[in-house]
Amino acid sequence: MVYLSTRDSSLQKSSMEIIKQGISIEGGLFVPEYIPKLKKQDIEDMRKMDYRQRAYRVLSLFLTDFSQEDLENIISAAYRNDNFDCPEIAPLVKLDSNLFIQELWHGPTYAFKDMALQILPHLMTTAAVRTGDDKEIVILVATSGDTGKAALEGFKDVDGTQVVVFYPHGGVSNIQRLQMVTQEGKNVHVVAIEGNFDDTQTAVKTIFTDREFIRSLDKHGKKFSSANSINWGRLVPQIVYYVSAYIDLINSQALEDGDEFNVVVPTGNFGNILAAYYAKNIGVPIGKLICASNSNNVLSDFINTGVYNINREFYRTISPSMDILISSNLERLLFELCGRQDEQVRKWMQDLKEIGQYKLDDQSYKKLKSHLWGGYANEEQTLAAIRDTYNQYDYIMDPHTAVGKWVYDEYKEATGDNRKTLLVSTASPFKFHEDVLRAILGPESIKDKDEFEGLEILESISGMEIPSGLKDLKSKTIVHKTVVSKDKISHAVKNILGLDGGRHEDSDSTI
Ligand SMILES: *Cc1c(COP(=O)(O)O)cnc(C)c1O
Repeated sequence: MVYLSTRDSSLQKSSMEIIKQGISIEGGLFVPEYIPKLKKQDIEDMRKMDYRQRAYRVLSLFLTDFSQEDLENIISAAYRNDNFDCPEIAPLVKLDSNLFIQELWHGPTYAFKDMALQILPHLMTTAAVRTGDDKEIVILVATSGDTGKAALEGFKDVDGTQVVVFYPHGGVSNIQRLQMVTQEGKNVHVVAIEGNFDDTQTAVKTIFTDREFIRSLDKHGKKFSSANSINWGRLVPQIVYYVSAYIDLINSQALEDGDEFNVVVPTGNFGNILAAYYAKNIGVPIGKLICASNSNNVLSDFINTGVYNINREFYRTISPSMDILISSNLERLLFELCGRQDEQVRKWMQDLKEIGQYKLDDQSYKKLKSHLWGGYANEEQTLAAIRDTYNQYDYIMDPHTAVGKWVYDEYKEATGDNRKTLLVSTASPFKFHEDVLRAILGPESIKDKDEFEGLEILESISGMEIPSGLKDLKSKTIVHKTVVSKDKISHAVKNILGLDGGRHEDSDSTI
C-alpha cells in the first residue's frame, strides 16, 4: 500500500517514508491510497486475541512495508504490561445496558495519547533503520496539554531522536504543566509559548514546510518529524482500540456480530474521531460518530451547518486538551468526503488560511451528515455531567470525557437513537482532579488545597489509587523553564538544535 497527500494525490510514498516525514512538503496530510477491509474471519479470530495480537491484525492492513517480525516487536515494546497499568490495555466499563466506556488512559501519562505515542517512536526508528536513514530525527510537538507529555515519555532517551515540545503558557492544567516541565531525559526540550494552541500548531506546521530550514537541518545531519496526530503513525494505532472495543462488546454479548453501535468522542484536533471513522470504513459496524466539543465549538457548528468558521472567540476551558479551533485532521475527512480531490482540499485550506472559513458543497456535506453528529457542552454542563455520572453510576470521569457524556445525552434526546454506544474516556480523572472535585464535592472542597492534597481527596472518594507518576511529581525538580513569544518558535528551535551558530538572540523573550 502506498500513501498520497490530501493536497497532492499524485504522490506515492511508503508507510515508512510518511511516518518518518510526518507531514507532506506542500502542507497536506498523508492518507492511504485505499481503505483496506477486515474480513469476517479477522473478526472471528480476534475474539480470542489480546490487545497486542489485535493490534497486529489492524496495523498490518495499513503498514504493509513493515515485516511481520518488526511489527510484532514494535507492538510488544509499546503495549508492555509494565507500561500500562491493566492487562486489557484499553478496558471497557459498562455504565448501563446501552452505554459503555472505553478507558484509554491506562498508559504512562494517563491520557489517551499514550495509545499512539508509546508505539510511534518504535515505528519511526524502525522505519529509519529499515530505510537506511541515519539522520537524527527531530520531533517537534505542539501540545494542548496531553500530547506533549506522552511524546516526551515515548521518545525520551530513544537513540537518534530529539524531542521539542511547545505548550501554551497558562493554557494547560497545572498537573499537565508539571508533568512536562519535570521531564527527564537527555534528548528532551520543553518550551512554553505566549499564545494559544492554534498559534503553536500553526507555527510548528510552518517550520515543517520551511524548505530553507529543512535544508539547513539536513546539512547538520538532522530531519524533522511530527508526533502530532497529523502523523499517520499516530492515527493508525488509534484505529486499533475501536476494533478492539467492538470485539470486546461481542465477547461480552452486549452486541451480536454485525450489530451497529455508536461512538462518542470528545474532540479537539479531530484525530481520535477520525480513527473511529477509519475503523468504520475498514468494516467495524459503527453507526453514528458523535463528535463532542467544548465551548470552542467550531466542529459541532461545522457538522450542523457545513461551514467551518474560526472567526470566533477562543476560550480556555476545563477540558484544555480540546481547546482548539483549527482541527488539523479534519483535512483527511474532507479528502474522503469530496471524493479524494486534492484540488478541492487545497481550495478549502486556502480559504481557511485567508478568510478563516470554508463552506462544504452540498454533496460533501450530505456525506458528512450521514456519518457524523455534533454537539457541545459548556463549562457548567461539563461539571454537571461529571456530577450526575458520579451520582447515578458511582463512576468518576474527567472533564473531557464528561463533555462526551453530555453530548451523548443530548444526542439520545434529540434523535431517540438507542443503539448501544461506546464513549471513549480520554483522560484519567486524577489528571484534572481540581475540576472533578469541584463538580462532585463543590468549590469549597478544594479551597486552599494544593495539587497533591487534591489528588488525595480524589483517591479517598474514588477508591482508586493516585497514579504513581502524578504522586511523584511532588518531589521532582522543574528542569524546563523557557518561555518564548509565539513569533519566536522557529528561532527557539534553531537555538535548541544549535543551528544559529551560537548566537543567542532570545534573551528578550526568555524568562
Ligand atoms: C487530545 C485529547 C483530546 C482530543 O483528541 P483529538 O484527537 O485531538 O480530537 C480529548 N481529550 C483528551 C484528554 C486529550 O488529551
